[in-house]
Amino acid sequence: MTDVFTGNFTQQEPIPEEGIEAAIEVMRSGRIHRYNVAEGEAGETALLEKEFADQLGVKYCLAVASGGYAMGAALRAMGVAPGARVLTNAFTLAPVPGAIASVGAVPVFVGVTEDLVIDLEDLKAKAVQADVLMLSHMRGHLCDMDALMDICDGAGIRVIEDCAHTMGASWRGKPSGLWGEMACYSTQTYKHVNSGEGGLLVSNDPDLMARATILSGSYMLYGRHLAAPAPEVFEKIKYHTPNVSGRMDHLRAAILRPQLRNLDAQCEAWNMRYRAVDDGLAETPGLTRIRRPQEEYFVGSSIQFLLLDWEEDKIHDVIARCAGRGVELKWFGGKEPVAFTSRYDSWQYAPSEPMPKSDRVLKGVIDMRIPLTFSVDDCALIARIIREEVIAVYQGG
Ligand SMILES: *Cc1c(COP(=O)(O)O)cnc(C)c1O
Repeated sequence: MTDVFTGNFTQQEPIPEEGIEAAIEVMRSGRIHRYNVAEGEAGETALLEKEFADQLGVKYCLAVASGGYAMGAALRAMGVAPGARVLTNAFTLAPVPGAIASVGAVPVFVGVTEDLVIDLEDLKAKAVQADVLMLSHMRGHLCDMDALMDICDGAGIRVIEDCAHTMGASWRGKPSGLWGEMACYSTQTYKHVNSGEGGLLVSNDPDLMARATILSGSYMLYGRHLAAPAPEVFEKIKYHTPNVSGRMDHLRAAILRPQLRNLDAQCEAWNMRYRAVDDGLAETPGLTRIRRPQEEYFVGSSIQFLLLDWEEDKIHDVIARCAGRGVELKWFGGKEPVAFTSRYDSWQYAPSEPMPKSDRVLKGVIDMRIPLTFSVDDCALIARIIREEVIAVYQGG
């Protein structure tokens, strides 16, 4: 009864052949810079922007160098100035507070609930401190977006969404990315589409997007975009907006376009695997599964569970025993972060008060990636292994 899993938790799927062909075509042409296009040619990058905007149902889209870059550009476009305070999640990934720090602003961390979403009570309490919220849908968990927008609209807080883990997700049928004024996506290898590095910034606001476009390094070539505001919008800002180079190139755009066309099917594939793990963990003593509300359509590219109020040694034990059987779990709650930082108290350049309720949750969060190279049966096996090891440790094994 000691099955071992032999899959690789960081192995993503290959790029679709169509994307490889398109990338080779770009290389053969020698025209890789996004504004290097032949007469009458739109170019892969402008086409990607147009296609993503249409797919999401938003007016404007700008492709950039990374998700973190997109967040920095959004903050700058909104006029967030050095010294300004920006609300963000206490539980997120390092590039989120990093983007806030990159414009000289100061992150103010808002707590996390047992459902792994932003704590709306804490948000209300801290609302007076800032007029921008960088809302991170960390690990693909969407909070009650209606309630969040009520709070933010009521307090005059402008919302930027970090959709690094929610490309393809929605709340009450409205896609994540359409709730705030701007939204940022990452196309980095471990997100929902893979170009190694890359990001997408979207908005329906022409002024913000004209500024973001100049910021990204469009020079005076913004007329070559297919999902940018009209040229007259640029007239007002083009000599007042700095160039903070962070463009995407045709090569990355070429490999992303076929992946985006296949996004819905990929999301379903992730969710079948997520359900196999989640079902397999049901009613495991000591283990708390994360509640997923009816209104949320999520993309299960990773799964989390809680070992709430467990002693640290025992959590270590579970991680080690699962690792021994080939199952790679991440514990976000360890004193010393391993490989990534995801908690507010790891970002000591930004001052924060302790948040005991959040600390309790963060101390118990276990995370696992679900690459699409795993089969549904693999996922069921993984769940069995986790379940056995959690029970063994919990029952004093
Ligand atoms: C990956 C990630 C980002 C930023 O993505 P990069 O493209 O790596 O800069 C932002 N937020 C979250 C929650 C992420 O996981």
